[in-house]
Amino acid sequence: MKISVERARCEGYGFCEQAAPTLMRLDDEGELEILLEEVPPALTEAAEAAVRVCPVAALGMADA
Ligand code: SF4
Repeated sequence: MKISVERARCEGYGFCEQAAPTLMRLDDEGELEILLEEVPPALTEAAEAAVRVCPVAALGMADA
């Protein structure tokens, strides 16, 4: 699975970072940085949680 962010949608709320801090983080300018685009199986649930909590549906997952 791969996770990606649609930058035009992302508002920098950071809920996704709280749900999956190993996969993504907000940088000092409030830009979301995806740390691991290829989601390891052990982090699939965290990635799905991040997608769910984003209030503007900026995150997406797709089969690699
Ligand atoms: S929760 Fe959504 S809007 Fe907020 S930083 Fe993450 S991707 Fe961006």
